Amino acid sequence: MKANPAAVLLRHGLLLLAATLLLGLISGAWGWSLALCLAAYLAWVLRDLLRLQRWLENANPRDEVPEARGLWEALYDRIYLLQRRNREARERLQAVIDRAQQSTTALQDAVVMLDSDGNLEWWNPAGSRLLGLKSPQDSGQPVINLVRHPRFKEYFERKEFAEPLSLRSPVDPNLHLQIFITLYGQREHLMVVRDVTRMQQLEQMRKDFVANVSHELRTPLTVISGYLETLLDHADTLAPRWLRPMQQMQQQATRMSHLLDDLLLLARLEATDYPAENQPVAVERLLQTIRTDAVALSGTRGHRISLEAEAGLLLKGCDSELRSAFSNLVFNAVKYTPAGGEIHVRWWSDEQGAHLEVRDSGIGIEAKHLPRLTERFYRVDASRAADTGGTGLGLAIVKHVLLRHRGRLEIVSQPGKGSTFTCHFPLTQRVRDTAQSASD
Ligand code: ADP
Repeated sequence: MKANPAAVLLRHGLLLLAATLLLGLISGAWGWSLALCLAAYLAWVLRDLLRLQRWLENANPRDEVPEARGLWEALYDRIYLLQRRNREARERLQAVIDRAQQSTTALQDAVVMLDSDGNLEWWNPAGSRLLGLKSPQDSGQPVINLVRHPRFKEYFERKEFAEPLSLRSPVDPNLHLQIFITLYGQREHLMVVRDVTRMQQLEQMRKDFVANVSHELRTPLTVISGYLETLLDHADTLAPRWLRPMQQMQQQATRMSHLLDDLLLLARLEATDYPAENQPVAVERLLQTIRTDAVALSGTRGHRISLEAEAGLLLKGCDSELRSAFSNLVFNAVKYTPAGGEIHVRWWSDEQGAHLEVRDSGIGIEAKHLPRLTERFYRVDASRAADTGGTGLGLAIVKHVLLRHRGRLEIVSQPGKGSTFTCHFPLTQRVRDTAQSASD
């Protein structure tokens, strides 16, 4: 039965008192009797305290509790219970950690934990396989020193991890990796690296297939268009009932040729991340020629097309790619704005970067279509696209060209009121032609 601490103390007090009385009666020295009994009691308590201290010092949680009596027994039992609970909680936590480590060890994807400064803390075996991390010497090293790639450094330092980064493995250039980074806790980084080589190969096969088909279709189409043109040049020798079908055939052949041009251009844009050419492009001059072409495209429909461009504001990049992108936006404005409508093109810069805006007073686009507009062949209204002779690839080209120039496209539109397409470029792409700005 467990001793009640108060009762034990009371019993000890009474025993002490009885011993003092007995000794006092025998010896007659009451003071010395009390002192002797207290000293004996103290020695007894100290002996047990010493035993407890020794037991705690060599504590092996699995050892039996030493024999003790009274209060000490309760104390030993309590400490033993606390130690056992503590041990069980530790064992449970260790089991959870072991399971988590076993599962991440078995993962095909690399899992790398970095501290808030980007230094390596822990990684699984796939981390060594895909990124070449070596244990233990790489532990504590900055990740940008170990995954040595300018694009990774730029991505890591920009700290915008919404989109994953695609990269070749530093260990094996044949491996294509996709890197996802998530911030957690005190801004520590969790980096997950996936081997996407197979997906990349399939994607490459798709691109090659489209590029090859487009290329192969070109020659037969040129022959058909050539004969149609010759035949139509001698229209007076044709039976009148063949004239209209022939003209329609020529129209469709021209449309097909534009489609092939756009598909080949897209294939070229997808082949590399950045344009081979990276010269300052005189956007103002480019826009002037596009405006002249847009006026010709508008023809008798008489759109009012205005241009406002900041003098001497140049953009680093590829002239022909930017021409394709900007002309697609301006020609779309002409195509999708009724006769007599207004189109305004503006090129300017501010502290955020350089911007090109094409605003029209046309038919507009419903909000539900906006997120999908830059997909290939996405059309708001198939019948409308057939009227305009569009290929459905224009905005996909714009998106790719902007990506290659570190830019992004913003679309604001209201059905019946008009649309505004704005290309935003970062400051790093902007160049100022000081000579030209000064002379203007
Ligand atoms: P398309 O060759 O059909 O013009 P795009 O990729 O250039 O293909 O455009 C995709 C769709 O976006 C078009 O079919 C059209 O419905 C819509 N669109 C593009 N620009 C405009 C605009 N300025 N005003 C209204 N709708 C537009």
